[in-house]
Amino acid sequence: MRPKKSKPHARARIYRATPNNLRRLAAVLRRGGLVAVPTETVYGLAAHALDADACARIFVAKGRPTSDPLIVHVGGWRELKAIAETNAAARTLARAFWPGPLTMILPRKSVVPDIVSAGLPSVAVRMPRHALFRRLQRLAGIPLAAPSANPFGYVSPTTAQHVRDGLGDMIGHILDGGPTAIGVESTIVDIRDPQRPRLLRPGAITRAALEKALGRRVSEGARHATPATQAQLAPGMLSRHYSPRTPVELHAAIDRRRAAFTDTTEAWLFFARPTGLAGKNIFALTPTGRATVAARRLFGTLRALDAQQFTRIHVELAPGSGLADAINDRLRRAASKR
Ligand code: AMP
Ligand code: MG
Repeated sequence: MRPKKSKPHARARIYRATPNNLRRLAAVLRRGGLVAVPTETVYGLAAHALDADACARIFVAKGRPTSDPLIVHVGGWRELKAIAETNAAARTLARAFWPGPLTMILPRKSVVPDIVSAGLPSVAVRMPRHALFRRLQRLAGIPLAAPSANPFGYVSPTTAQHVRDGLGDMIGHILDGGPTAIGVESTIVDIRDPQRPRLLRPGAITRAALEKALGRRVSEGARHATPATQAQLAPGMLSRHYSPRTPVELHAAIDRRRAAFTDTTEAWLFFARPTGLAGKNIFALTPTGRATVAARRLFGTLRALDAQQFTRIHVELAPGSGLADAINDRLRRAASKR
C-alpha cells in the first residue's frame, strides 16, 4: 500500500496587509515559498519565477499539469527585459495597458526556468495594477510566477476565502486584498511577431482596445496551439476549465416561456435580473446588465451556486462583445464536458 500523501500545511493563514505581514510574505517568496496574492483580475498563487523548485511547488499545490505554462508577473519594463525579448509593439502595449490586466507572450530568455513556460521558447508576462500586489512585489524584488490560486480546472478565486476553500490544505499564506475588481483573468496576446498579434484569451482589455493601440488587426488565435503543449495534454483538457462540479448548461438567451423554472432542483442564472420572475432557483449576474459587474460577480456566483444542491446550473450568455467575450469564454469552458 502506498503511504498517504502528507499535507504540508494544516490550514492556510489569511494575512491582512500590514507592513509587517507584507515584509514577512515577501521573505517567504524570496526563499522559494508560495503566497496567494490578490491582483485586479483574480487571486494568484505566486512563487519566485526564477526559482524552478519554487515554481514546481505551484504545480503540486494546484494539481496543475506541467504542460500548462505560468504567467510571470513583473514590476516594470526593466524586469521584463531581463526575462523576455521585447519589441516595439510590446512596448506600445505596455505603455497603453500596464500596469493592468494584459498578458503578453514574448520570446523567453534563458534565465526563465523551463518549468515556468512548459518548455516553450516563449514566456507569458504581465504587470498587475493591484496596489497590494505591487507593494509585495517591490518588497520581494523578484519576478513572480502566478497562475490562478485554485485547484486546477476549478472556478478561479476572487476572494481570499475562495483561495482558502480550494487550497487551504496545500498552502500556508494568503494575502487578503478584498474581492478582486475585474473578476476574470487577464487578456493574453501573443505579440512575438509584431506584424501578427494574436489574441489567445479574451479579458477586460478588449480586442478592439488592442487593435486601437497597435493600429492593426489582432487575430483570434487558439490557446495552446503549440505542438509541444498539445501533445502532452489529453484532448479537451483545457477546453474544460473554470468549472463547477454541478453540470452547467448554456443558453444564448433563456427562453422564459419554455424554461421549466418550477423544477427547483435546477438553477437558472440570468445575465441581467429578469423582471417579474423570482424564486429560490432564479439568479442574475448583474442587477442592471452591466458587463463589468457581471464579470466581477461571475466566479463568486458560480461557486455559490455550486455549493447549493442543484442538479444543474443553467446560465445565460452575456450579450454583446468586449468584456462579454471574456465572460462567455469562461462560461463556455465551465460548461464544456470533460
Ligand atoms: P492562468 O492559469 O490563469 O495563469 O493562465 C495561464 C495561461 O496562460 C495558460 O493556461 C496558457 O493558456 C497561457 N500561457 C502561459 N504561457 C504561455 C506561453 N508561453 N504561450 C502561450 N500561452 C501561454
Ligand atoms: Mg487558472
